[in-house]
Amino acid sequence: ELPTVAIVGRPNVGKSTLFNRLVGKKLALVDDRPGVTRDRREGDVAFGGLNFRIIDTAGLEEADSATLLGRMRMQTEAAILEADVVLFVIDARAGILPADQPFAELVRRAGCKVILIANKAEGGAGMAGAYESFRLGLGDPIPFSAEHGEGIGELHEALKENL
Ligand code: GDP
Ligand code: MG
Repeated sequence: ELPTVAIVGRPNVGKSTLFNRLVGKKLALVDDRPGVTRDRREGDVAFGGLNFRIIDTAGLEEADSATLLGRMRMQTEAAILEADVVLFVIDARAGILPADQPFAELVRRAGCKVILIANKAEGGAGMAGAYESFRLGLGDPIPFSAEHGEGIGELHEALKENL
């Protein structure tokens, strides 16, 4: 049975872009319009000798529903429970926002293995945001770009150590 990796974080940090890069197919819908339906997706990944199942968490089915955060939280909790390793994604350009905190709290509380990904850091952007992310208490961030593939070697190393 394949080990499982879950991609976790608030909306719009680039989780689906990372999922697509690892799976190598456009299986996850990437969209920056709020309210677009974004279902949970799973895929099998073969990544430099590592083989694992990956879960992309999503759940934005309504633009502004009181139940939205609750549903996202439930979906995220379920994915974390299944996961051997969590990839916690932040937007390094935006820095740490209040919306990151409930997702970080779920991961901290689960006590699972976590790799912190400071995404959107292509070309050295977002170094301040990556530095801020230390205070999430989820370890050292990997500066990363899901869109451009920067940091993929460091991610591979981290997965190799943790899977
Ligand atoms: P999700 O809601 O966390 O799944 O985020 P998406 O993967 O749908 O991406 C949200 C937005 O961020 C989209 O407009 C992406 O094109 C953009 N994005 C994702 N990864 C990167 C990246 O590495 N660099 C930049 N600059 N933008 C990115
Ligand atoms: Mg998504």
